[in-house]
Amino acid sequence: MKILLRLIPYAKPLHHFIPEYVIYTFLGIIFGLANFALLIPILDLLFNKGEMKEIISHPSFEFSVTYFKDIFYYTFQQIIVHNGKFGALLFVCSIVGVSVILTNFFRYMAVRVLMRLRLRVMYRLRNDLFEKYLKQSIAFHHDHQKGEPIMILTSEVGEIESSVINALQVLFKDPFIVIAYFCMLLYWSAQLTLFTLIFLPISGILISSITRRLKKLNYFSQDTFSSLLSFTGECLYGIRQVQSFTAEKLMLNRFMNINDTFSKNSKVLFGKKELATPISEVLGILTALTLILFGGYLIINGKTDLTGNGFIAYLALYTQMIQPLKNISQTSASLQRGIAAAERIFKIKDAEITIVDHTLAVEKMEFKNEVALNNISFSYNSNEVIKNISLKIPEGKKVALVGSSGSGKSTLVDLICRYYDVKGGSITIDGVDVKEIKLSSLRKMIGFVSQNTFLFNDTIANNIALGKPGATEEEIIEAAKIANAHDFILHTENGYQTNIGESGMKLSGGQRQRIAIARAVLKNAPILVLDEATSSLDTESERLVQDAINNMMENRTSIVIAHRLSTVRNATEIVVIDKGEIAEQGTHEFLMQKQGIYKRLVDLQIVK
Ligand code: ADP
Ligand code: MG
Repeated sequence: MKILLRLIPYAKPLHHFIPEYVIYTFLGIIFGLANFALLIPILDLLFNKGEMKEIISHPSFEFSVTYFKDIFYYTFQQIIVHNGKFGALLFVCSIVGVSVILTNFFRYMAVRVLMRLRLRVMYRLRNDLFEKYLKQSIAFHHDHQKGEPIMILTSEVGEIESSVINALQVLFKDPFIVIAYFCMLLYWSAQLTLFTLIFLPISGILISSITRRLKKLNYFSQDTFSSLLSFTGECLYGIRQVQSFTAEKLMLNRFMNINDTFSKNSKVLFGKKELATPISEVLGILTALTLILFGGYLIINGKTDLTGNGFIAYLALYTQMIQPLKNISQTSASLQRGIAAAERIFKIKDAEITIVDHTLAVEKMEFKNEVALNNISFSYNSNEVIKNISLKIPEGKKVALVGSSGSGKSTLVDLICRYYDVKGGSITIDGVDVKEIKLSSLRKMIGFVSQNTFLFNDTIANNIALGKPGATEEEIIEAAKIANAHDFILHTENGYQTNIGESGMKLSGGQRQRIAIARAVLKNAPILVLDEATSSLDTESERLVQDAINNMMENRTSIVIAHRLSTVRNATEIVVIDKGEIAEQGTHEFLMQKQGIYKRLVDLQIVK
């Protein structure tokens, strides 16, 4: 329950909502009561039982219900005398008409206030969560399923909206309605109302517990429903494979099997669910009948002040109390669902961000001297992936990291970019520990191109401009030229304004990679990190991309992880990483002569 209080700050400032809401709700209830009170004179008029209290002279003012009642009856009787009965009927009906309009107007206004509150809470909560996800470390994202953020942002936040906020809506309105209506009923007939007080809760609890149990049965919570969903998703995601193996028939059969079970389960479920309405209706009417019997008994035997017409109005108002009571009885269940959702949401909100700016972190704008790895070590879980590596990367030089797959190269550059923090040792840039540099300025200093580029569903120009928000068109074109991308971009449908589809699906791998390089060129970072930037490409596009990379690396400090060793032959220094350690280190010629791991790797590629 306490966790729900944490939602309050999202609604602040509360004075934007509460006074307005209270006024509208109050007025809504008053006019609502007036509608039912006015039923009595209408009935009196129509059935003319002579039950109406006669008031001859204008009543003198006092602040009481009786005064208002008397003044109404006085005016009413005056109208009957002067304008006849129909005139009086017209008069009451007009008042009821206006009162009904006002009741609904104020109810609507109250709902609008709550809607504003609800939308504000949801808006802020979504922004907050998204920001949190953006700032979370890569390690956090690896530990959480890909679909989780989307689930949290849509269905969990939606759950809060539908359960908690609706519960609030009920809690801040319906109890007041019930109390006000109840007072009115008590005023009309204490005897009858006290009787209902004993009898109503019993039938109420009975009805709500039966219907709740039946209604809770949910289609979407069935196991078969989720199998249906996941099978559909999986199968259509792999539609290429399904068609190439002509497995459509097999898949259809499997689907039909699941669908069949699902339909059968649903039939049982709906049979039960549909019982809720008849059962609650029968029980509800039985309750009302009992009330009529008891009230009728009192009236027939003259044991109450209540008139027949008054009793009808009483019953009408009484029925109006049932819905609010039902709402109240359902809030606890919906709050439970809200609490569960809030717990999941705040777990994400509370998750500590492990990679953050040190309190004394400094801005660092320039890179002058060297990047140094000082005896660093790192492990993801328990096994050490990087062991005591020391390395210097001087300004303006090109250092290549080579080694077999899984040796720790990508991890090493991730540590330099501070996607992870080293467990031992330190990484410094110009002698400043990367942990003491503001993350934003550290990342601005490093341009990163990896094997898996990511492009957004946007225009080519905007994708390149990610490297430098607010870049001019000339700058974008300049960067694209360096990245060998200008020519192919001009050949696309709308040039730089072409939309490249989700994840850049409308481009080839080599084209995507060159856009990513243009992005890094535009960023113009002093240090470049290339992690197997060409390894997923065919020979032709690899050459184009490699040229682009060579253009980009001119006059820059670069750390290159290359799968094709011929591309790093001219590096200032080649570092061979093996099982997380530096195995060999030196120029191409030196390492070839050494006849060690490097030579073996080169020989392997020549044979290929
Ligand atoms: P390389 O880039 O040289 O191929 P990596 O640096 O990607 O190698 O990986 C080094 C080792 O760390 C591998 O054994 C890999 O299984 C492990 N590893 C990589 N990423 C993770 C991760 N997110 N969680 C756990 N282990 C990882
Ligand atoms: Mg790698």
